[in-house]
Amino acid sequence: MKKYFKYTVFALVAAVLAGCATSAITGRKYLKLVDSQTINDQASLAYKEFLSDANTKVITGTAEATAVKRVGNNIAAATMKYLQQKGVADQYNFNWEFNLVQSSDVNAWCMPGGKVAVYTGILPLTGTDAGLATVMGHEIAHAIEEHSVAQISNQMALQMGAQMLGAASQMSNSQWVSIFNQAYGIGAPVGMLSFSRKDELAADRAGLIIMAMAGYDPNAAITFWERMAGAKADNGSTPPEFLSTHPSDARRITELQKYIPEAMKYYTGNTGSSSSPSTKNMKTIHIK
Ligand SMILES: [Zn+2]
Repeated sequence: MKKYFKYTVFALVAAVLAGCATSAITGRKYLKLVDSQTINDQASLAYKEFLSDANTKVITGTAEATAVKRVGNNIAAATMKYLQQKGVADQYNFNWEFNLVQSSDVNAWCMPGGKVAVYTGILPLTGTDAGLATVMGHEIAHAIEEHSVAQISNQMALQMGAQMLGAASQMSNSQWVSIFNQAYGIGAPVGMLSFSRKDELAADRAGLIIMAMAGYDPNAAITFWERMAGAKADNGSTPPEFLSTHPSDARRITELQKYIPEAMKYYTGNTGSSSSPSTKNMKTIHIK
């Protein structure tokens, strides 16, 4: 038993050493036990299942659906430009997709590989394209920073111990789909993966930079999160799903305000131009 424990500890340490990654935008360290291609492929499959599910109604052809694709493409272009400038774009084999789905849930997410869903329930809170860019920039920042990859890796480390090294390759497609469904609150939002406060702040900070580079005024993020805080008050004890994983409170808004000057360096006011400041202003952000 003691011997087994020793091997378990050895395997864990080896996996942590082998699986330690550094995030692209904020430079945080995290555990990564699944390679990007595997997780992108599996996310793509889960996304396809979500879109074709009888309970999912994808909206097409409306002004709102067009706005989701327009803003999404602008944010994606800015994100890739940012990653290229940092020399890490080749690590992101993203095949972007943006879809608006009919749902009263106040929600939006981006799976690894750039698979984005915006629920109609969040549109009254986003209002303008800049509001939409706030939400999409934030969710895409979670994906670029690989917060769900870290969460899944942590779960694997906890649950599988010594066997985890081979765990990713042993998981079936349906096991992967159920992991993504749970992570993104598809089907039953209960038990939805919740990011840590640090992950949230990192996604806010990176999201502001991405939206600014895409030509959307980062100040719109303050207005959006203030509206979210209002929605929380309106709903009393049952806040919308998005709020259960994205607490909108005074601290979040104070932190966002601190990030605005940095994001404004990337803002040119030309929507869709994905402009960026001169390279002397490009620096890695460090959030610990
Ligand atoms: Zn978030």
